[in-house]
Amino acid sequence: MNAVEERILAYMQKQRDALFELLSALVQIDSQNFVQTGREQEVQEKILQHCQALGLPAQLYVPDRVPGLTAHPGYLPGRGTDRRPNVTAVLHGTAPKRRIMLAAHADTMPVGDERLWTVPPLGGVRKNGRIYGRGAGDDKAGIAAALFTLQCLQETGVQLSDDVLFTSYADEEYGGGNGALAACLKYPSQVYVNLDGMGMAVNPWGVGGCVVEIELWTNAPVSSAWPAYEGVQVFMENLKTFSSSRYGEMARSSVYNGTEEYRDTMRIGSIAVGDNCSDLGRAKVSFVFYTLSSRQVIQQELVQLRAQVADDLKKLQMSIGEFRATSRFFQPVLPATPGTETQRLASALEEVRGKPTVLRGFCLSDLSIFGQYGGGEAFNFGAGQSFAQEGGFHQPDEYVDCQELLDEAKTLALYLIRAAT
Ligand SMILES: [Zn+2]
Repeated sequence: MNAVEERILAYMQKQRDALFELLSALVQIDSQNFVQTGREQEVQEKILQHCQALGLPAQLYVPDRVPGLTAHPGYLPGRGTDRRPNVTAVLHGTAPKRRIMLAAHADTMPVGDERLWTVPPLGGVRKNGRIYGRGAGDDKAGIAAALFTLQCLQETGVQLSDDVLFTSYADEEYGGGNGALAACLKYPSQVYVNLDGMGMAVNPWGVGGCVVEIELWTNAPVSSAWPAYEGVQVFMENLKTFSSSRYGEMARSSVYNGTEEYRDTMRIGSIAVGDNCSDLGRAKVSFVFYTLSSRQVIQQELVQLRAQVADDLKKLQMSIGEFRATSRFFQPVLPATPGTETQRLASALEEVRGKPTVLRGFCLSDLSIFGQYGGGEAFNFGAGQSFAQEGGFHQPDEYVDCQELLDEAKTLALYLIRAAT
């Protein structure tokens, strides 16, 4: 580390309360995602004002009005992204040769059942070295870390030669993606640091996948949900073939074999049969799967699966609908080796934390969008607990560890000084 780097890290250490207060303030603004609608507007206005107060030129814009977006093959209709804004701010470099974008999503998962929380979900409570609340880790930690980093770079007078952009994008949860796509089209960059990672790992790889649902029904009226339930059993039995081919490809991947993502390769979201004595002959199954295959391969397998189930259901006097995707199809991101920028950030992280950086694959995220449509190098990085941990992403009592958050910001500063000068 050189003198400039040491000076800025010391400054960030001294100013850290400003980072923690910023994250608390962001958590206190409701920005829950409800699939077709989302409450991003207010928090994005706050972020816009914050950027302007730092003297950074910034723009608030809705994805759907970005030229080319709604006609783009990656556009997902039906998400209300004509009213769910992004914000992008620019820290202009002195002699820009390229753009580096830091990005994080402004929407959060819904709070869920408040009785499961021991702190107010939108309280931004700080205690025991943690900041609690919905979105604390996923993904307002990323927003706070990026803004604090840009502020500290300015206040210490560090001059970068390349342009650094920061985007707070809308509609990530539930496989949205239009916000990230709009950022790629409006501000194409050479590097995308998507601050939507967890556990302080760096993720050059991301799985592909999709959330799908399908309906089954009896051909004649019934007085019990039992026949439809038997139809579901037939479906589930057949689903095992599709499922084992997903687990098979994940097991063959050196990136994913034996990981948390491997365990979560195939997850059932819901199985509904009848509706409290109405619609007794109808059933619906939804599931999410991870894949390292292309959309075409998956489509073929789903067509075969459906045909097999339709055949088996005939014996039960039942029919099956078509598979319906309820998220976008995420293309996997699978570079052969981590890119130069990924490695540069990984080594900055190692210096900040004093321990080796973990490079691993990630679950579904908008890394898929940045990787596929950004036209540059993209990777995830970030603080926070994983989905299966207490206080993890999407869990009650979601939190981010203050030390991790500060280390995330310090890593970004170190990375930008080295990458953008
Ligand atoms: Zn996230």
